[in-house]
Amino acid sequence: MAELRNDPASDWQRATCYLNGEWTALADAKVSVLDRGFIFGDGVYEVIAVDTVDGIRAPFHAHAHFARLQRSLDAVRIDNPLQVEQWLDLTAEVIERHLWPRQLVYVQITRGVAKRDHPFPAGVAPTVFVSTSPWPAIPSEQVEQGVAAVTHVDERWLHCDIKSTSLLGNVLMKQYAIDNAASETVMLRDGFLTEGSSTNISVIKDGVISTPPKSVQILPGITVDGIAHIAQQHGVHVDVRPITASELAIADEIWLCSSGREVLAIVSLDGAVVGSGKPGPMYRTMHEWFQQAKREDARNWVAQRRARSIETRASEGVT
Ligand code: PMP
Repeated sequence: MAELRNDPASDWQRATCYLNGEWTALADAKVSVLDRGFIFGDGVYEVIAVDTVDGIRAPFHAHAHFARLQRSLDAVRIDNPLQVEQWLDLTAEVIERHLWPRQLVYVQITRGVAKRDHPFPAGVAPTVFVSTSPWPAIPSEQVEQGVAAVTHVDERWLHCDIKSTSLLGNVLMKQYAIDNAASETVMLRDGFLTEGSSTNISVIKDGVISTPPKSVQILPGITVDGIAHIAQQHGVHVDVRPITASELAIADEIWLCSSGREVLAIVSLDGAVVGSGKPGPMYRTMHEWFQQAKREDARNWVAQRRARSIETRASEGVT
């Protein structure tokens, strides 16, 4: 294990990672230039947030992330090299190997290394890469003051439901936000809201949370589903339906959400004020509920790991 000083700014370079069955220093890990991930963007990935709540360091919605990974792999016809329990073990191990209280675990699988040619190569093992890095605290100013966003036509392909490593469309949209002094680009296709460059978007009007339906146009976000679940638990109505550009203009609140940004209020869109221009009351409540849900999820993770370790020991004949 690399010597880590729990100094996120410099330590990530000394982190360790899992590459094709081996643990290796991140700085030394190498994949072939013929890897189809490099050549074609022929791969899929997941990002799992890890936080320490009530003294428990846990990944959030880990099962949901590996279910979505399976869905992405199926969609691009790459065999899943591991079972869900093995993925969870690997996630636990990568977290254990690093001291950071907040981490972002990346799981990346490509179609593997082969002579450059478009068709799927036969008999090639996928490349499997798992790494983690420090996850800086979400700036309190963003939570308290909200963030700015800009809109843009969604110019991406029609497989946005696959969490593909082919992210050029998303990268260009994130840079569009940066170039326009904004934090996110909210995309519209044929006049309807799709999603952000790396987030899902919800619109709040008259106490109802609305989100676009799942389709090939958006990533089925784990966080947006989490928010819908939390809202429903608290009796807040969630409407899953197409949302027009004009609804964005008259929304009381607009939220962006993702594993890495949790939930943030968009307080200005294309330079126009959203609602009161401050994170609204629904946002503040949801932010609090979200933190509570993380606590529950952390406790569940611990219980599941305990059950897993008992099961493993039993199968190994350890009593
Ligand atoms: N949409 C896109 C395009 C994303 O990249 C992300 C972040 N992975 C999301 C939505 C949010 O997904 P999640 O809540 O699962 O992190």
